[in-house]
Amino acid sequence: SSTDLAALLAAKIRDVPDYPKPGVVFKDIAPLLGDAEAFAALVDHLAARSRELGATKIVGLEARGFILAAPAAYAAGAGFVPVRKEGKLPGELHRQAYELEYGSAVIEVQTDAFAPGERVLVVDDVLATGGTVEAALELIQRCGAEVAGVEVMMELGFLGGRARLAPLLGDAPLETV
Ligand code: AMP
Repeated sequence: SSTDLAALLAAKIRDVPDYPKPGVVFKDIAPLLGDAEAFAALVDHLAARSRELGATKIVGLEARGFILAAPAAYAAGAGFVPVRKEGKLPGELHRQAYELEYGSAVIEVQTDAFAPGERVLVVDDVLATGGTVEAALELIQRCGAEVAGVEVMMELGFLGGRARLAPLLGDAPLETV
């Protein structure tokens, strides 16, 4: 069941206090990735949701999103699209700046990554402030594609990411595994 999956995954995520800076509790997914059963269960779940939502592309957000989105896309029979930090992708790009706790960042996607109207699932490990996913949703919509949903392993609810994303999501679900 989904409760069993959540418990299996939660047991494999390590809280690292004060990393990368004081006051932050870093959610380290390395133990989960290194556990064959937990990793397969997570990827299978993401792939199943991708199929149910009718996605033909899965976007991974650099860098940990790549690790989850690429095998999920393979398992779902969907394509994989990387949304990358500034300066990593060649060719014609859409760019989106967003605010971080200190300063700002830019993410990019290739303009031909999606067909018009194509349904896209976004995958990342942790939803914190929602700034990164929000910027990715804007990029997908600017490409003329449709957001089918967002899947994250964990949501840091106290940071309000879900409320921030609501206007861009419309009817598309934001799901925590
Ligand atoms: P945000 O844009 O604030 O939602 O931050 C999301 C991005 O930062 C995700 O790609 C996460 O991988 C990473 N992140 C933010 N907070 C944490 C945390 N406490 N533990 C692990 N990763 C985090």
